[in-house]
Amino acid sequence: MPHDPYAWIETSLATIHRANWYRSVQTIEGRPGATVVLAGQEVINFASNDYLGLAGDERLMAAAIAAIEEFGTGSTGSRLLSGHRELHKELEKAIAFIKQTEDALVFSSGYLANLGVITALVGKRDLILSDQYNHSSLKNGAILSGAAVIEYLHCNVTALKIQLSQQRQNYRRCLILTDSVFSMDGDLCPMPALLDLADEFDCMLLVDEAHATGVLGKTGAGCVEHFGCTGKPLIQIGTLSKALGSLGGYVAGSSALIDFLQNRAPSWIYTTALSPADTAAALAAIKILQQEPRRRAQLWENMRYLKTLLEQLPNLKLLPSESPILCFQLPNTIDALQTGKHLKDAGIFAPAIRPPTVPTSRIRISVMATHKVAHIEKLVAVLKQGNGEWGVGEV
Ligand SMILES: *Cc1c(COP(=O)(O)O)cnc(C)c1O
Repeated sequence: MPHDPYAWIETSLATIHRANWYRSVQTIEGRPGATVVLAGQEVINFASNDYLGLAGDERLMAAAIAAIEEFGTGSTGSRLLSGHRELHKELEKAIAFIKQTEDALVFSSGYLANLGVITALVGKRDLILSDQYNHSSLKNGAILSGAAVIEYLHCNVTALKIQLSQQRQNYRRCLILTDSVFSMDGDLCPMPALLDLADEFDCMLLVDEAHATGVLGKTGAGCVEHFGCTGKPLIQIGTLSKALGSLGGYVAGSSALIDFLQNRAPSWIYTTALSPADTAAALAAIKILQQEPRRRAQLWENMRYLKTLLEQLPNLKLLPSESPILCFQLPNTIDALQTGKHLKDAGIFAPAIRPPTVPTSRIRISVMATHKVAHIEKLVAVLKQGNGEWGVGEV
């Protein structure tokens, strides 16, 4: 009976198209920055995670080039075999220093850091409680771990407490997972309350600082610092790929934790060490973070200015945010896609985010320290015009 075992792929793609969920890549030319060239058109960039504008910074580039000249392009093996360089340890020390933790460990990406850490910490006899809006890497790490997974209502401490009271005693270890800045909404987790619950119910707490590192807190250490929770017993994950302008992920915590992960985290043990260029660029970024607090201050000035202007637009359904991620809601995927296209035609790059990434369609704007007042005002002017002409925010 002849049958094409791959035929289902075309059928699946057709379903994705019908739901307006289809996605494809868009080419950016040249270096990243507050403006970029997108498919030949110069646009103001509100789509990147390069919050501090460091991904195209000459100093990061020079550090990466110098590292390539000294160490070559590839690290040639896993950290435990031929891949470890002094540069990795230097970067890990710098991360531990800004986080005020005993130690840190770098992974090839933030995604791999979450997969590796979660699977090392819990297994079949354990329980994971996970915020329903957590990043894909936390959700998939939870599934991969084999632990029982319960999602709690977004940022809802009462719902979490009920789950803990009912379920905690049935399991050996318990791990609470949360983004610290929610990546597709921009709001913050209730960290102090989560720490209290973790303490009360004997749970580990893992916070993902991907969008907070370099952005929040007095020294840019992240949400943990912002909430005054530095030094508390928690596990911090993050990325080198957003505000730090490089590529890679990390975990920061106690020396015992890091020691354990070097022996038990498969996505660290069985993968090639971070490249010399990426490692050196991230290290250069951390130095800039410490030497130039003005950059972060400018990011927040830009964010507050834009937020104030957006709040004055009638009909614009702005989602609650306490970060440089500002989203406004649209009634459906088609409207979100059209709004994204209108913005692009008007020289603004701000993507439509749709299900299944998020439950409701929206335009996601991320502010950079290197945006000029004129960039922000142009975005608002275009949205204002859209309010009349193509119905932004008629939810
Ligand atoms: C981006 C992101 C990650 C993944 O980090 P990468 O270094 O890009 O793999 C993990 N968690 C959250 C919350 C993120 O936003």
